[in-house]
Amino acid sequence: MSAFTPFQQPFCQLGSTFFRHCQPEPLVNAHWIARNDALIAQHAIAFDDKTLLNLASGLLDDSLAPIAQKYTGHQFGYYNPDLGDGRGLLLGQGSHYLGISYDWHLKGAGRTPFSRGGDGRAVLRSCIREYLASEAMAGLGIPTSRALSVVSNQETVWREGPEPRAALLRLTPSHIRFGHFEWAAEVGADASKQLADYVIAQHFVHLADSPNPYAALLRQIVVSTAQLIAKWQSVGFNHGVMNTDNFSILGETFDYGPYGFLDDCQIGYICNHSDHAGRYAYNEQPQIGLWNCQVLAASFANLIPSEATRSAIMNDYVTEYNNHYIHLMRQKLGLAQTHPNDKELVAKLIILMDKHRLDWSCTWRELAQNFEAQQASQLSDYQAWWRDYQARLDFETSSENDRKMLILNNNPQLILRNYIAQEAIDKAESGDCQWVDSLRQALQNPFEVAEEWQAYCARPSLSQKGLRLSCSS
Ligand code: AMP
Ligand code: MG
Ligand code: MG
Repeated sequence: MSAFTPFQQPFCQLGSTFFRHCQPEPLVNAHWIARNDALIAQHAIAFDDKTLLNLASGLLDDSLAPIAQKYTGHQFGYYNPDLGDGRGLLLGQGSHYLGISYDWHLKGAGRTPFSRGGDGRAVLRSCIREYLASEAMAGLGIPTSRALSVVSNQETVWREGPEPRAALLRLTPSHIRFGHFEWAAEVGADASKQLADYVIAQHFVHLADSPNPYAALLRQIVVSTAQLIAKWQSVGFNHGVMNTDNFSILGETFDYGPYGFLDDCQIGYICNHSDHAGRYAYNEQPQIGLWNCQVLAASFANLIPSEATRSAIMNDYVTEYNNHYIHLMRQKLGLAQTHPNDKELVAKLIILMDKHRLDWSCTWRELAQNFEAQQASQLSDYQAWWRDYQARLDFETSSENDRKMLILNNNPQLILRNYIAQEAIDKAESGDCQWVDSLRQALQNPFEVAEEWQAYCARPSLSQKGLRLSCSS
């Protein structure tokens, strides 16, 4: 028996249209940079340390049949038929949690048939960024792929200069993207049906009995995507590359690249410096989410011939997004009741936060403090907003204390700001490999942060905010 057994590869049922078998180019003599012991415990992963390091480095034996998945997708609005796993391999389903099987995907595993001109490799910097962001999102309660480990070795990879090579093990119940459906639609009706049937059987069994399972599937994906983006907006997360090949059918945050969490509120914030037109700016995300769902719906045309049905599902996106967004924002304001003017109250606050460049996270959280203690209390337009807010609180039935608790439980203290992620990268690159996991642990509880992390909860300094990241990965 191989050291690696329990791996299953059910995706192979779909046949060679959807994947190629491919072996990794392993990271020889790799060492741990980060190992997510909390996730290892949660999934009851029983591999010994050496076996896990081998998996995390791509040193496999014949018992595994890794694959590179084929998909296409819209990148910055344009269809690209030539996509697929170019620097990552699906090792198979390797663990379970709450009765659900998890795909293990090794990012940075080397060249695949879909690498095009790329080297198939990942650098340490981008692996640490994905590792920390995945776990920060999980800590915030936002659906996300998870990160099990980062390893690195002596090899260098050339980006803007030489950088250490690394690989990330990513876990999620499914690596199927919107782009898989775009590819299936390009192949033809049979492929679309085959993929949709597989997705229902593997991930949404309860939809099989719906009167129209394909419409139910599309609605499921669209609604979870709308909810996800409302959650991103609420924590000030800017994904940066909302291409349809980076959108998971599970409605999880997926494929972390040049992402950024807002420091100062800047609604037009663009974390991706190559996004010159700002297509994926923070305030564009809700409508780009809809655009992506429209692309997905178009690729379901073979499965749901009724244009009216597909367009009704697009309306569900809008409804779901609006409902979920206002629900989250009410919680951030500490409001337990609903009132017709809440949307306006939220919008006014965000407009003045944007105007005065107030810190996204700290400003919300300070709503739980006395007015005088809030940094914005000197601003006359904030004073006016505060009066509206006080008037709104008259419609609440809960106590002052309940309101404050609601605010503190829905506005994180610790956010993975760019400078915090960069500090972890700098430390790892200079040999301190404990820090990444210490930070990961702190991010797992972002609403209640231990004393030693309080300094990271404060407003960042000017130089910390000014940090510009290169986004090549
Ligand atoms: P991303 O921007 O990470 O979503 O990647 C877009 C596409 O480019 C995907 O098909 C990736 O597999 C591929 N890709 C990105 N980086 C590399 C690389 N270093 N080598 C090969 N393919 C890559
Ligand atoms: Mg991608
Ligand atoms: Mg990526």
